[in-house]
Order: sequence, then C-alpha cells, then structure tokens
Amino acid sequence: VVHIDNERIMWVNTETKDFESYELPQDERWAYASVAYVKEIIKSAQLVIPDGIGVELGFKILGKYNVRRIAGIDFAKSMIKKYSENGLPIALIGAKREVLNLACDNLKKEFENLNIVYKCDGFFENEEIVENELKNSAAQLVLVALGSPKQEEFIYKIKNEMPNTLFIGVGGSFDVWSNCVKRAHS
Ligand code: UDP
Repeated sequence: VVHIDNERIMWVNTETKDFESYELPQDERWAYASVAYVKEIIKSAQLVIPDGIGVELGFKILGKYNVRRIAGIDFAKSMIKKYSENGLPIALIGAKREVLNLACDNLKKEFENLNIVYKCDGFFENEEIVENELKNSAAQLVLVALGSPKQEEFIYKIKNEMPNTLFIGVGGSFDVWSNCVKRAHS
C-alpha cells in the first residue's frame, strides 16, 4: 500500500506491518501535484469499489479482514443489466472504435432492452465535442473506458453537469466484452 502525502512517500511494510516513509527529494516533488489531483478525483467519487486483489490484501494488512474484492467489470455489467431492464439510456465512451462496436453488439445480444443513446471511441481529439454530445444524449448511465486516471478525470470534469447520471470508469472492460481480450482471472 503506497500513500503519498505532501512531500513524503509512505507505505506499509508487509513484514513488520509498520508504516515507513521517506522524504521526496526536491526534484521528485513534481509527482506529488499529479498524485494529489488523482487523489482528489478519487475522493470525490460517490463509490470506490475494491477492484483487485491488491486492495483486499492491503485492507488485510491494515487489520480489516471483511473487505472482499468486487471486480469493476462485474459491477459495471450488473448496472447495465439494471438500467436495461428499465429501458434507461446508456452511453459508452472509450476503447478503439472496432472494439467499442463489437462490445456494443455483444451487449445488445445479452440485454434485449439495452438502450444505447451515445457511443464514442476513446481516441477523440476534441474532448469538448464529446462532452457536449454526451450531455445532449441525456444518458443516465455512462461507462467510461479510457484507462486510469484518464477516465476518472473525464468523469470528474463532467459529472456535475449531469447530476442525475451514474458514471463508472470501467478500464479495459470493453476489450473483454468485445472478446478482443481475455479477462484476467479472479
Ligand atoms: N483507452 C482509450 N483511450 C486512451 C487510452 C486508452 O480509449 O487514450 C482505452 C484502451 O483502448 C482500453 C482501455 O482504455 O480499452 C483501458 O486501457 P488500459 O487497460 O491501459 O487501462 P487500465 O484498465 O489498466 O487502467
């Protein structure tokens, strides 16, 4: 577990279970600004799920044994199911165009009432255009697959303008749903 705090790096020593830290040299402090920004973004999320075994292990080291891994890809799928059952508008942003299209096709086969109102691959040049198109689509669930921390930043910048929309950063999920990439084992 690595913490970056002001001008110091902190971590938990897995053997002694003690916190250790060291002061960043002046020329490495530039990293702090961007890490602090990402931290602020993550803190602003309404829900942060423990995706990944590293989080589960980190919590164990800190003495919290009841945290179980929830894979983000499964969480996102369950939300698609819920929104589809109610015919609610969904948007997908991210991944290469062919991957995105294949993922949408496969999701349509899985959820017959899936209502995709907007999709855009993740290699756009003008973010403002994408943001405006997304707002106009009035999607109520937006899945963003731009990788981290790009997707978190994208969501952070737009979510207040779409207050009734649920945004989820889904990493490489479109690659998996398109069958282009095999899912990492759980
Ligand atoms: N991606 C994208 N635009 C970018 C960079 C990445 O759409 O500018 C997509 C990439 O094609 C992949 C997804 O983001 O589908 C997740 O990428 P990666 O696995 O690198 O991210 P991670 O899940 O590890 O954060």
